[in-house]
Amino acid sequence: MARKAAATPALAPSGEASLSMLAGVGPAVAAKLAARGLLTLQDLWLHLPLRYEDRTALTRIQDLRNGVPAQVEGRVVAVERGMRFRPMLKVAVEDEGQGTLVLRFFHFRQQQVAQFAKGTRLRCFGTPKAGQFGLEIVHPSYQILGQHEEAALGDSLDPVYPAVEGIGPATLRKLIGQTLDRLPDEATLELLPAGWLDGLALPSLRSALLTVHRPPPDADLSALAAGRHPAQRRLAIEELLAHHLSLRRQRMALQAHHAPSLRGNGALVEQLRSSLPFALTGAQQRVFEQIRKDLAKAHPMLRLVQGDVGSGKTVVAALAAMLAVERGKQVALAAPTELLAEQHLNNLRGWLEPLGVRTAWLAGKVTGKARAKVLADVASGEAQVVVGTHALMQEAVVFADLALAIVDEQHRFGVHQRLALRDKGADGRSVPHQLVMTATPIPRTLAMSEYADLDVSAIDELPPGRTPVQTVALNNDRRPELIERIALACQEGRQVYWVCTLIEESEELDATPAQATFESLQALLPGVRVGLVHGRMKAAEKLATMVAFKAGQIDLLVATTVIEVGVDVPNASLMIIENAERLGLAQLHQLRGRVGRGSAVSRCVLLYQAPLSQMARERLETMRQTNDGFLIAEKDLELRGPGELLGTRQTGLAAFRMADLARDADMLPGVHALAERLLAEQPVVADRVVQRWIGSAVRFASA
Ligand code: ADP
Ligand code: MG
Repeated sequence: MARKAAATPALAPSGEASLSMLAGVGPAVAAKLAARGLLTLQDLWLHLPLRYEDRTALTRIQDLRNGVPAQVEGRVVAVERGMRFRPMLKVAVEDEGQGTLVLRFFHFRQQQVAQFAKGTRLRCFGTPKAGQFGLEIVHPSYQILGQHEEAALGDSLDPVYPAVEGIGPATLRKLIGQTLDRLPDEATLELLPAGWLDGLALPSLRSALLTVHRPPPDADLSALAAGRHPAQRRLAIEELLAHHLSLRRQRMALQAHHAPSLRGNGALVEQLRSSLPFALTGAQQRVFEQIRKDLAKAHPMLRLVQGDVGSGKTVVAALAAMLAVERGKQVALAAPTELLAEQHLNNLRGWLEPLGVRTAWLAGKVTGKARAKVLADVASGEAQVVVGTHALMQEAVVFADLALAIVDEQHRFGVHQRLALRDKGADGRSVPHQLVMTATPIPRTLAMSEYADLDVSAIDELPPGRTPVQTVALNNDRRPELIERIALACQEGRQVYWVCTLIEESEELDATPAQATFESLQALLPGVRVGLVHGRMKAAEKLATMVAFKAGQIDLLVATTVIEVGVDVPNASLMIIENAERLGLAQLHQLRGRVGRGSAVSRCVLLYQAPLSQMARERLETMRQTNDGFLIAEKDLELRGPGELLGTRQTGLAAFRMADLARDADMLPGVHALAERLLAEQPVVADRVVQRWIGSAVRFASA
């Protein structure tokens, strides 16, 4: 058999050999493969199966189970051609166990219809689904058997590969088979240092590739389906290594650039520090010192500051800004929403203007003459600290001398936006320092993997005097009790948030649910001053309401999740979140962070609509049990997986072929250690690992 005719290792071509050496790969096929990034033998070795189909056994029709893929053999007993809304072909098949199964086709050719004469023997494979008359398979793959033919069963699981446009699955499988026949011997293929895998009970790369592409009949199917087979883990570990190495190298590339060294006498920093109405926490001091050290260097800083909601990131950013201003340079601070940006502006103005530092404000709504003035001030250097939204990243914005770009709540921006801001300060000779702040805690292992191109600091301590928020989950039918609780809190001079959850993002534009809640709460709570903010209101209206709430002129604020990030009203001590079961953990945690900012005991009520899904139940339970953002993030990772946690689409996270950051998290510490070792001792090997898995394709935005 072709499969056994593996080339002798001595003659095996290198993994970098072009695919055009394969039979069946002419210019046209090569072009289609290339369009998918498949250029070399190695690229096809690493075109890994998405899943497997088991054709090694036959299942009796009566034993078929809904949703479980299976192979059956039987005779055609009836054929029906229908034409209701679209052409359809139904073929009923019966096997020796007298079970019948319907095969249903929506796309078929005339000659196919002729094939299915009554009595024809068929072998077919597919996933049965419950249909009108029992189980049926839509578009099975099938094979016509001779009347007495004994067709051999497959002797291994059939891999199903990610599709390549213009190349059928069977052809693709054959091509991959050809490349596997040319796999070099173990020692040639292996890039991981000898001995490193020993303690891990993982196979060599060669054996792992052969197993995942051609799993033997006795392979552990459930492990393969779960991606936990040792062969899969062997591939995942190398892929994680490649990914990590590539990020580390991007970081080194950034380090090769120049940046303005912001080493000053620290006079402004000291002035700001001593004018604050509070002392910095130990964590704030530590993180600021890290930033100060970074900024003193002549290479660009790229630091992510993580700090739970309320941990006091803004003031740390303000202190960092002073280091730039002291040297006569400019600072940009971007926040993802106007509400948040405006709050930063107010904070910074309050702190900085007494020190004589000139701030400027740029958001979408700043237009006309006002905009022209801001742009001129930014361009002349008159504006020293420029606060704004995405508007800061637009082309028209030109800085005189931007030395530090600060981005708050980074996960709300894309990588590209962060880079756009950075590039505003790049003048060919130097690039500005970057400080990224996030309240979405990222589990340590993940942070090391996904942000290997960043330095990460954590403000892991809350300012003193905060009391943990007490959280309860309450069935929606107990709403009336809540009304009393709200009345009581307001009587005591406390303020309350009522958060309305939208079913879909697009409803952010639909004010009705929040409006209705607002009206009914007003009716139920006559002595209470109720306010409303939602996404559809004009920014100025929103802001006016927030300002009134902050000033204590509103007792109860009905809000959509627009208040999720950054709003700071320490006197608010009760929050009710409606339909809490619809929100993810990160969002719930962010929302809850709006209370518990003062010294009063705060409460958060998670109102839910029964019945709860298992996932929703676990989320609410987690919220009840802990206030620790890092624990919550770990749980979130477990429940949702990392893509969603980090916002895959936005951050430009890599798509892995095999690895899964949540599933394979246990391997990360070892991978990180190995990466450091390779970079130090065997940079050429490190290059080859990256080349093998990531290739020259730019799969990440350069940091
Ligand atoms: P976040 O990290 O969520 O952005 P903020 O920077 O908005 O937090 O800070 C939350 C609140 O805590 C603000 O009112 C801020 O002035 C206050 N704050 C910051 N640092 C301290 C501190 N060391 N002691 C007391 N209050 C502080
Ligand atoms: Mg903040």
